[in-house]
Amino acid sequence: MKVFEQLESEVRSYCRNFTTVFQKARNAKLWDASGKEYTDFFAGAGALNYGHNNPRIKQKLIDYLLDDGVTHSLDMATMAKENFLTRFQELILKPRNLNYKTMFPGPTGTNTVESAMKLARKVTGRTEIVCFTNAFHGMSMGALSATGNGFKRGGAGVYLPYTTFMPYDGYFGRLVNTAAYLEKLLDDPGSGVDTPAAVILETVQGEGGLNVASDAWLRQIEEICRARDILLIVDDVQMGCGRTGTFFSFEEAGIEPDIVCLSKSIGGYGLPMALTLIKPEYDVFNPGEHNGTFRGNNLGFIAAAEALEYWADAKLEKEIAEKADMINGALSKMVNEHREIEAELRGKGFIQGIAFTGEPELASKLCAAAFERGIIMETSGPRDEVAKLMPPLTIEKELLERGLAEVVEAMNSIMSAFKQEEKELQLQS
Ligand SMILES: *Cc1c(COP(=O)(O)O)cnc(C)c1O
Repeated sequence: MKVFEQLESEVRSYCRNFTTVFQKARNAKLWDASGKEYTDFFAGAGALNYGHNNPRIKQKLIDYLLDDGVTHSLDMATMAKENFLTRFQELILKPRNLNYKTMFPGPTGTNTVESAMKLARKVTGRTEIVCFTNAFHGMSMGALSATGNGFKRGGAGVYLPYTTFMPYDGYFGRLVNTAAYLEKLLDDPGSGVDTPAAVILETVQGEGGLNVASDAWLRQIEEICRARDILLIVDDVQMGCGRTGTFFSFEEAGIEPDIVCLSKSIGGYGLPMALTLIKPEYDVFNPGEHNGTFRGNNLGFIAAAEALEYWADAKLEKEIAEKADMINGALSKMVNEHREIEAELRGKGFIQGIAFTGEPELASKLCAAAFERGIIMETSGPRDEVAKLMPPLTIEKELLERGLAEVVEAMNSIMSAFKQEEKELQLQS
């Protein structure tokens, strides 16, 4: 790790928790330079839904490279892009009765969010964007202005304007309907809240602590937007591509956002790629008005098109549901067997975790103990109080089971250390 400490910027982060140098990876397994094996329950924060070095996708990439396929093309038309657009239409949009034009912003999640916010302002002529407590939308200025985390916001160094934060679903507990709260403020000429260009939301807040919005809340937010000509933007950068169980995370709720942001796993192979899906009537950027050098990452198109084949039938969805139940079972067991601490299950589908609401520091301790046992997992939430599991969707059942057993053991070990400490504290007082 010396090279990284000496040569890489202090801003580096994940390598501080996972203190080894990785060399190889396949599906949900990683190996470090010494040959030690790890199970990946983090999946590139959701960029590796189809696993590391997915063999189907890898073969397509190899063939394309050997054939001297165009790698970089700005936004010129290429065979790779044509095929991706066609397959995306056929396999994803058509079967779901969705009608979107596809925009290629820069290749990252924050790029699609920026383009969505800009577009909503252009469409409506309004400036404000309503966003939610504990939202995470990215690190560039516009996306950061819609991100809740104070530490991340502090990095901006300037005032982050033109956003209005509202309480997310469940922010005041299950009994307070925060959609009704938003509606009242929007309609009250005395509220001080200006009519926004758009509402931007995640259906499940990943970085924000695995907060799941109910279907009813999402539908109510959509109605509120419709009635006031406010655009609804769903940031599906992390929850899309199957993370919650369906291709789009909002399918179950039955809503139809005006703009959808996709990135992370849309590139299929962990390759940088992002899409901004736009209802045709809002496709109003002039040619080149929003631009970027790396919008034509053809390796991304090749990998993405092959990854879409996973959605040609219901097999993957069914597998996600079965394996999500296994994850839920292990986590429930962990919470139930350690009733002495305040903890609750969070999340949905292939992003579930435990919120250590009483002792937030236990989440980091659990991740560290799991890492010692060869499991890669991370925390989230405003106090890093949630230990979350988000393996590749393609993880083998048997490896998932073994990995979960290690996490259960890691929990037992941190809990016995925790109880020991409590006892010592009691003896001292
Ligand atoms: C990761 C993420 C982003 C930002 O994506 P980057 O590629 O890191 O810029 C935006 N929104 C959500 C919901 C994310 O999870």
